[in-house]
Amino acid sequence: MARAMHLDPDLDFIRQVKKAGGADLKTCMQCATCSVSCKLAPPDRPFPRKEMAMAQWGLKEALLSDPDIWLCHQCNDCSTRCPRQAKPGDVLAAVRSMAFRHYAFPSFMGQALASPAALPLLLLIPALILLGVLAVGSQGEFGYLFAGSGEVDYAHAFPHGLLEMLFIGGNLLIFAFAAVGLMRFWNAMKAHTPAGMRSPGFLAAMTGVAMEILPHSKFGQCGESKPRQLGHLLIFYGFIGAMITAGLALFFTIILETLGSPFFLHSPIDLPNPIKILGVASGLAMLIGGGMLISRRLSGDSVSGYQDWLFLIAITLVGLTGMLAWALRLAEIPVVAYLDYYLHLVLVFFLLWYAPYSKFAHMFYRTLALVYARSSGRELVSQAASAAPVAPQSKPAAA
Ligand code: SF4
Ligand code: SF4
Repeated sequence: MARAMHLDPDLDFIRQVKKAGGADLKTCMQCATCSVSCKLAPPDRPFPRKEMAMAQWGLKEALLSDPDIWLCHQCNDCSTRCPRQAKPGDVLAAVRSMAFRHYAFPSFMGQALASPAALPLLLLIPALILLGVLAVGSQGEFGYLFAGSGEVDYAHAFPHGLLEMLFIGGNLLIFAFAAVGLMRFWNAMKAHTPAGMRSPGFLAAMTGVAMEILPHSKFGQCGESKPRQLGHLLIFYGFIGAMITAGLALFFTIILETLGSPFFLHSPIDLPNPIKILGVASGLAMLIGGGMLISRRLSGDSVSGYQDWLFLIAITLVGLTGMLAWALRLAEIPVVAYLDYYLHLVLVFFLLWYAPYSKFAHMFYRTLALVYARSSGRELVSQAASAAPVAPQSKPAAA
């Protein structure tokens, strides 16, 4: 006998999904062509057809806690083949952006990062704090900033000790806030998506996910948007390289000097020092990777929301202003150099301090969902399916 189910649709949630990029959601007729098309969906309960149904029904909690929305890498193979132009790939992207907003702590920050109206205030916070750093570094003497030509000394204007305090202190706070949001997400996944029978264990799942993320191998399995893999890899490793550069610069220019070590380095570190090489390579990687992804989005390969553009433009500008700061220092053009470096710092702290609430949060939430999927046995099913190719028609017609 059929089991009765009580559904509690959230109509406002449906409106939000449509507004966030899933405008054509309601045209879906549940044919499951998308689930058959998706190379990343496991044969057992494949996505995205069931997610389309959940979104149409406004099943907010079930959908936002569904790890499958994070197994999707937005290649849009499914959207290309959808006979109703319901754009399931874009619907899943919209739901993902709503998911990290939903679990964000404090929650008002999730709302703020999603609102263009809040952008001036969000930028103003790091802008004012960095003006304070500049005032401390300059000790009331600002004339050198406006010289027509001459030596450019960023460490004098923005003392590295103060910047590192902001960097380390801000990051510790942000990681603590991010951890609260991620715990909420993990608990929601456990509550709504029970683990399967075949579990490889948490550590094995984490190792497997790391081996998947480092080469971005899932992007390589996508069809329509496979070229996005290179852009994502450049941004990913560019950002990691920039973080390592900042850490090494802190260690060699401040910590070793404080310890009186003979190995300490004078600021600024310049070529051919390996730390500078890493910094330049990282900046270029972010600039090129960001440019590649922006040009793909401009070509209309997928629906792009406010947060997509905000993140891509911010990370590309971080790379651009970082490269310019180096060039302008060498060219000894103080007024433009200091202005550019100031903008660079504002953008860096904007990206870091708001990471748990911006598109950056994808990195954390996707990683956690992949670990959950593997540790609950779901991802193992997916791997087995891709290891032994099966004719697409052999997947269930309706998930
Ligand atoms: S392909 Fe997917 S999104 Fe499109 S109509 Fe069929 S079930 Fe709906
Ligand atoms: S966008 Fe790509 S990965 Fe995501 S559901 Fe569609 S086909 Fe699968």
